Amino acid sequence: IERTLSIIKPDATKRNLTGKINAKFEDAGLRIVAQKRIQLTVDQAGQFYAVHKERPFFGELTEFMASGPVVVQVLEGEGAVLKNREVMGATNPADAAPGTVRAEFAESVGENSVHGSDAPETAAEEIAFFFSGLELV
Ligand code: ATP
Ligand code: MG
Repeated sequence: IERTLSIIKPDATKRNLTGKINAKFEDAGLRIVAQKRIQLTVDQAGQFYAVHKERPFFGELTEFMASGPVVVQVLEGEGAVLKNREVMGATNPADAAPGTVRAEFAESVGENSVHGSDAPETAAEEIAFFFSGLELV
């Protein structure tokens, strides 16, 4: 059974959407097996998104991710990585399929409500970035 790292981003926590987004995960058969609300620094956001360091939006992205609390969570299920990305929808809400989190809630390509790991290997790294072994059962 697969696990993936999900983040409910500051634009969504600000609008009190955690429960509505979690309902979409659960309705899709994803189980929330770990979850906590934290405040990232710009530096920590930069470490997490290091793969995007050279992209023109890196500064905007890390400032945004540190602009308010985020909810980091581990989702579990059959094919959880892909399933979560289906529930999230396309990065740009203008391209996101109806019913997806980003179609319903995202405000822009930058402030797009959720993050989800893009492969099982990155999921393992991203889970370890936020959670210790003791927090995962
Ligand atoms: P995530 O990694 O957050 O799950 P993603 O995999 O759909 O999203 P990436 O290409 O990995 O998209 O980009 C990471 C994040 O960077 C996006 O979710 C978005 O918040 C931000 N981002 C991507 N493209 C742009 C852009 N053109 N302008 C501003 N921000 C962007
Ligand atoms: Mg990504």
